[in-house]
Amino acid sequence: MIPIKLAKQAHFSGRAFFSELAARLPENGGRPDYEDLQRVADIYPARITKNFLELIQKVDDPIYRQFVPSVEELAECGEADPLAEQACSPVEGILHRYPDRVVLLASSGCPVRCRFCLRKRLWAKEGDGAPADLEPALGYIKNTPAIKEVILSGGDPLMMENDRLEDLLARLATISHVRVLRIHTRVPAAQPERVSQNLLETLGRHKPIFVNIHVNHPLELSAPAAKAIGLMVDAGLVLGSQTVLLKGVNDNSKTLEALFADLYTLRVRPYYLHHLDRVKGVAHFIVPIKKGLELMEGLRQRIGGMTLPAFVLDLPGGWGKVRLDSNSMKYLGQGKWQVKDFAGQTHEYQE
Ligand SMILES: *Cc1c(COP(=O)(O)O)cnc(C)c1O
Ligand code: SF4
Repeated sequence: MIPIKLAKQAHFSGRAFFSELAARLPENGGRPDYEDLQRVADIYPARITKNFLELIQKVDDPIYRQFVPSVEELAECGEADPLAEQACSPVEGILHRYPDRVVLLASSGCPVRCRFCLRKRLWAKEGDGAPADLEPALGYIKNTPAIKEVILSGGDPLMMENDRLEDLLARLATISHVRVLRIHTRVPAAQPERVSQNLLETLGRHKPIFVNIHVNHPLELSAPAAKAIGLMVDAGLVLGSQTVLLKGVNDNSKTLEALFADLYTLRVRPYYLHHLDRVKGVAHFIVPIKKGLELMEGLRQRIGGMTLPAFVLDLPGGWGKVRLDSNSMKYLGQGKWQVKDFAGQTHEYQE
C-alpha cells in the first residue's frame, strides 16, 4: 500500500484564508460578508495558496471568484456527479471510460479549492481525507493490458510527497503495457515553489510524462509560475494546458487570447477549453454553449492552431468528451443541443 501524505505548503484554509483576505481587500472596494463565507466553507471547504491570494485585488475579480466561497454555491441545482464517474469506476481510484486510458485518482489533496470543481463531491470536510489505498487501482491497471496511458488526477497528484510520488511512478513503470503517463495539476501556477529539483528528478526518472496544467486566467501565470513551467519543460516534460470557461473569470475573447498566447510563449500547448460540467453548486459559473462557440470562432480568426485549444463538453451520464463545434452539434432550441460522442452515438444535451 502506498499511503499518501500532503507535502508541507504555503496555503491558507478557512478562517485563516478569510482574515488574510480581509487584510488585502481595499477599504473602498466592497467587502464580503465573512459570516456568509464561513457558512459556505462549512459545506465546501475553502483554500488558497499564498501565490494566488496575492493576486486578489478586489471582490469578484477573476482570482477572487475562483477561490473565495460564494452563497451562490448553495443554490439547489446541478448534480453531485453529473458525469457518472461513479459508474465508470471498476475499482476505487480508477475511472475507466475510454478503452486505452484510465484516470487514476492519486491524491485527494489540492493546493487550492476551486469553487467550480468537478469533484466537489469528493472534497473532504477536514484536511484532505484519509490516505488513499492505491493497491486496488494498481492491480486493475496491471491486469488490464488494454490500458496504454494512465492519467494521474485527483485532487492534485503533485501534492503528494516526493517519495510517495516516486513509489507510485516506480510501480507504474513496472507495468509494461502502460506506455505513457499524464499528470493533471494546478501546482505549477498555484504553488510554483513545489516544483523543486527533487520533484523534477522524480518526474523525469520513469515513463514519458505529459503534464497538463490547469490555468484559467493570464494573471495566474505570475513570474514564479512562469519560472516553474520553464523548469518543467527544460526537464523534458511535455506541457499542455486545460482551462475551464468560467463566467466572470475568463468568458471574454481578450482574456482567453492573452491566456493562450502566454501559455504558448511559455512552451505550453493549450489543449482543452472545458465547458463547465453541471455540478451541484457551480451554476453561477456556467457560460452558455452558444457564447463559448462564438468565443472560439472569434479566436479561430485571430490565433493559430498551435495556440487554440479544443472546446470540449463532457457529456452527462458518462458518454465522454466531445469537441464542440458546428460539425459535432446541432442546436434544437430552448437550450437543447444534439451532440455526437466519441463513438459516433447521438445524445441530447440540455443546458
Ligand atoms: C478526460 C478524460 C480522459 C482523457 O481524455 P483525453 O481526451 O484523452 O484527454 C480519460 N478518462 C476520463 C474518465 C476522462 O474524463
Ligand atoms: S485543483 Fe482541480 S481538483 Fe483541485 S479543487 Fe481545483 S479543479 Fe478541483
